[in-house]
Amino acid sequence: MTAKRLITITDVEVVREKGGAALEVPSGAIVTPLARDAARRLGVALAPAGKRERPALVFGNWKANGTLAQARRLAREVALGWCGSGAPLGPRRAALALFPPLVHVAAVSEALAGTSIALGAQDLSEKGGGAFTGGVTAEMLADIGCRYALVGHSERRREFGDADDVVAAKLRRALAAGLEPVLCVGETLEERDAARTHAVLRGQTLAAFDGLSAEQAARVVVAYEPVWAIGTGLTPSLSDAEDAMASIKDHLARKFGDEVAGGARVLYGGSVAAENAARFLALASCDGALVGGASLKAREFLTIAGAPA
Ligand code: PEP
Repeated sequence: MTAKRLITITDVEVVREKGGAALEVPSGAIVTPLARDAARRLGVALAPAGKRERPALVFGNWKANGTLAQARRLAREVALGWCGSGAPLGPRRAALALFPPLVHVAAVSEALAGTSIALGAQDLSEKGGGAFTGGVTAEMLADIGCRYALVGHSERRREFGDADDVVAAKLRRALAAGLEPVLCVGETLEERDAARTHAVLRGQTLAAFDGLSAEQAARVVVAYEPVWAIGTGLTPSLSDAEDAMASIKDHLARKFGDEVAGGARVLYGGSVAAENAARFLALASCDGALVGGASLKAREFLTIAGAPA
């Protein structure tokens, strides 16, 4: 067995002295708590060495938009652009998933048949099956071909009252059914102005991951979505976004160890568009993008998906 490498505070300081912004952490390496603190203090991102080899996840959340015919057409256009014989749109280093309204999932699934594009649901019930009128269970979603399910999207938290305990229950239901939950976390404008971003991210992340095993935690995708950036055209600075995503990985490292944190997939979401996607996707701690409005236009979504450098 090869000895695990130790990343110490000196490694971080050397990167900083050379003007670097990221330190690659080999798989299995141990980062000392002092090195972790220094990295945060000095603004050095601890990037898992494998990040560049992993495909970026580019997920399209269609929200409550579109007729059945429009959903079919959009899915076909995305499928054709991504897998068809047309001119390549850029490096194919992305894995795509579409999150249509639930009633359109079956039709979109048909349109995506034979492609590598995965399906996701925008929500699920925190209850099991049975006498829960209107509920859609995690098992039903898995049964109709969903691989992913969003949990804790800020619109669910705000408009439907999904509190942290409900989000945690949904996440567990999704895991138990074999889905990969996409946990959305992010601060409101008021929380940001009150310098509470990190506290909010910590609270939402730990509440959702509480009680999970490392194996379960490794199956959760996290999307950092500043609430004030969703659908507004506003975005955080790249350094704020990097800082937020790195802090999420940091919480996972402290709770589940460096292996889980190193393999964690943390996405950025909030007004991602063709002209800014590449900059977010290039961040050391960013493993993909959760795209709302721009995913409703096939060409723009495909351009975003082609963006990973
Ligand atoms: C979202 O709905 O998760 C989202 C990020 O939306 P938008 O890209 O439109 O800001």
